[in-house]
Amino acid sequence: MEKNSNFDKLENNYLFTEVFNRKQAYMAAHPDARVLNLGIGDVTLPLPEAVITAMHRAVDELSHRDTFHGYGLEQGCDFLRRAIIEHDYRPLGIELDIEEVFISDGAGSDLGNTSELFSSANRVAVQDPVYPAYVDTNVMAGREIVYMPCHPQNGFAAALPKEHVDLIYLCSPNNPTGTAMTRPQLERFVNYAREEGSIIIFDAAYEVFVDDPEVPHSIYEIEGAQEVAIEIRSYSKTAGFTGVRCGYTVVPKATGLQHMWYRRQCTKYNGTSYISQRGAEATYTAEGRAQVMDHIRYYKQTARLLTEGLKGLGYEVYGGQNAPYIWCKTPQGMGSWEFFDYLLEHYRVVCVPGVGFGRSGEGFVRFSAFSDRADCEEATKRLNRH
Ligand code: PLP
Repeated sequence: MEKNSNFDKLENNYLFTEVFNRKQAYMAAHPDARVLNLGIGDVTLPLPEAVITAMHRAVDELSHRDTFHGYGLEQGCDFLRRAIIEHDYRPLGIELDIEEVFISDGAGSDLGNTSELFSSANRVAVQDPVYPAYVDTNVMAGREIVYMPCHPQNGFAAALPKEHVDLIYLCSPNNPTGTAMTRPQLERFVNYAREEGSIIIFDAAYEVFVDDPEVPHSIYEIEGAQEVAIEIRSYSKTAGFTGVRCGYTVVPKATGLQHMWYRRQCTKYNGTSYISQRGAEATYTAEGRAQVMDHIRYYKQTARLLTEGLKGLGYEVYGGQNAPYIWCKTPQGMGSWEFFDYLLEHYRVVCVPGVGFGRSGEGFVRFSAFSDRADCEEATKRLNRH
């Protein structure tokens, strides 16, 4: 047996463990201190009522002999695939075939699994800073990675790679920078992919936070994108499904990959929980949509409060409008971890050091709008006091 030695090439991703350890150490040394966690990357509001009702109903259905059913289609239930096409894409002027929509147990799995469609000889481009899963899944597969730096000077929109790349991962709205790509910025990538014969993996996990008309909700809003892009979405941040698990991946037939993904899913995946899919379907009812948007408005208000609070204190901040994340420049050239320690020591505030998301994240920290509202208000007050 020979192990996959590519695993040895993975860099230790100790980011969240280290954040947790430093917070715990501080709390142990200062048991009476109220530490404010503004680094949370998980949703904090409970499931919308319409989702809860739909999931209860699904459990009831499975509880009776005459309505019980077992395995569903590997690619997902038609009721949800149709709802996605009708509500997420048709209003944007995008037409998809039902066979192009694959329900998943969340974006995390499909971000990793779609990489199986490509040869290990492919060269991969990722934004830097970046959601770590794109890098790690491709390192595990032995692919070469090219980094596309994103910083204030380029408006956090990466320049096109100078060399040929086969796969391009784009995350918009972006985790961690909280910024989103505009139509012309996305067009450049779609045109590049069409010219170079590349494929874009477009991670739209935070799509529901977009409210700027210049920012596309889907990469398929760009002409020709159905030939070169796979789009991955999730109900995790949209409807609080981080623990429920449901998402979907669109693999258009025009990419030439749809039949491969179908085959892959039928071989290795036995379908998403029926209960989760019924819950996801409920987000498309008028009532469900209104409840989802109430939650999103709440998080966006927190994002605004944090952004304005930090700006008012003189910090240079980015993002937070079309995303739940705020990307804050460290003052006086401090390193990410140095600023993290400074905020913890002086203000008992926890954030996430930007360098943990890649080299270009050095000199930044990430704040999150999933944090408790009262904690955000208290943090701004504390920062103001000094
Ligand atoms: N993509 C991005 C950019 C994320 O930030 C996350 C989760 O934080 C995911 C994907 C994974 O989402 P899911 O819960 O659907 O696996």
